[in-house]
Amino acid sequence: MKKFVGLVLFISFLIGLGGAASASGEGSWEQNQEANRFKTKVDAPLFYKEDGEFVKKARLLKDEVFERVGTEDDYHVLKLGTHTAYVKMADTAPYLEEDMPSGVADGEPHKRFRIVSHYTATLYYEKEGKLTAFARIVPGVKMPLLAQHGDFFIVQIGGRKAYVKGHDVSVYTGDYVNPNKTYSFEQMTTDLVELALWYPEFASLERIGKSVDGRFIYAFRLGTGDEEILVDASHHAREHLTTNLIMEMIDRYTYAYQQGHKLGGYDMRELLDKTTIWFVPMVNPDGVTLVQRGHTSAKNPAQVLRLNGNKKDFSAWKANIRGVDLNRQYPADWENICCDPGKPGPQNYKGTKPLSEPEARAMYDFTNAHSFKGALTYHSSGEILYWYFHQDSRRKVRDKAIAQKISSRTGYRLVKPKKNPSGGGFSDWFTISQNKPGFTPEISPYVGARPVPNSSFLSVWKKNYTIPLLLADEEIK
Ligand SMILES: [Zn+2]
Repeated sequence: MKKFVGLVLFISFLIGLGGAASASGEGSWEQNQEANRFKTKVDAPLFYKEDGEFVKKARLLKDEVFERVGTEDDYHVLKLGTHTAYVKMADTAPYLEEDMPSGVADGEPHKRFRIVSHYTATLYYEKEGKLTAFARIVPGVKMPLLAQHGDFFIVQIGGRKAYVKGHDVSVYTGDYVNPNKTYSFEQMTTDLVELALWYPEFASLERIGKSVDGRFIYAFRLGTGDEEILVDASHHAREHLTTNLIMEMIDRYTYAYQQGHKLGGYDMRELLDKTTIWFVPMVNPDGVTLVQRGHTSAKNPAQVLRLNGNKKDFSAWKANIRGVDLNRQYPADWENICCDPGKPGPQNYKGTKPLSEPEARAMYDFTNAHSFKGALTYHSSGEILYWYFHQDSRRKVRDKAIAQKISSRTGYRLVKPKKNPSGGGFSDWFTISQNKPGFTPEISPYVGARPVPNSSFLSVWKKNYTIPLLLADEEIK
């Protein structure tokens, strides 16, 4: 036995003299410049180069083997999918064995071809019948999708195929939103996060406030332009088909931008590189959820039941969760709002003072933090367009001209300016505080005190899908 160990040491010594490393993968890179594989000596960070900076995208776990395609200064160059990545040579040793560990099934073809890590995504291979982790990817890294195997996707890293759990990644489809069904706050949140993840070059997601029951109010930025417009929906709970409309806009606009397509005759990149669109798809998430799921969705179910006259049918509800009408909350002739019921309830109660409700406050602060050249506030129903609130004569001419363009595209009738319009609405306040046009389209033919049915979506979409683009394209002085 002793003799055998001595022999191995002697052979190792000879190989060392010959300029090669031992079979265990030790040895220096000076001696093994031709080696195209390496073994990690530690959990080694893997970087992308972004604007000349090394940015960490993954960690290659210790004692794992990868293939390099070149070197650059003190780094190995390797491929994560089709992306060029870097690992410090000092974290590795040359690997000289013939065999490359594999252990991943061929899998089935998948009709999509890209995924992005949604959470920290672990990469696995199969070693002696067990899934073994060999790398971890940070969230937001895009990778080509090679195939699918059960609940796993197969990707490639450093010359090796790897499994990643379907749950940890999102498959790029270019089509995330299904606008033809009742669209919940939770679904919206999932879709917004996913869309922002896929299009970081020109889109992002912000939380601009919190509802009474603690749901986030989101704003989605689309575009890189210095000019800005605002598009919002679902101030009123039962009008939640307006959220479907805006979410489908986000979905289709982002895809068109990314593909370099035109939409409705607009060159999306040209337009959105000039004017950024900010979308707030659900101003009243508690109210929408109440209409969709009933009183048990509220933090205080007894209170909303009482406000609704103890009826469990909330389909006519417009207010926020504590019975304040958010579109009667803005400081625009708030004192003289018409027809206030004087107490909280399903609709029309303006509250004890302007901006008493966090949802309206969030919109107010968000608007004041920007300089929007125009705003579109979607409501339902009736196929009419509000556009006037005490503009001076120059602005009245300016805003009416745009309103007429919107009207000719949607077929929505302009609401005749009244001498004393009732105020408190977001558009009312926007128009007089920002001195810019604020429009309130009421989608769908009139349906009474209830949500517009989902089956109306397509006709609503056809009339409205270019309206934010029209507004974004306007010169507004
Ligand atoms: Zn409304």
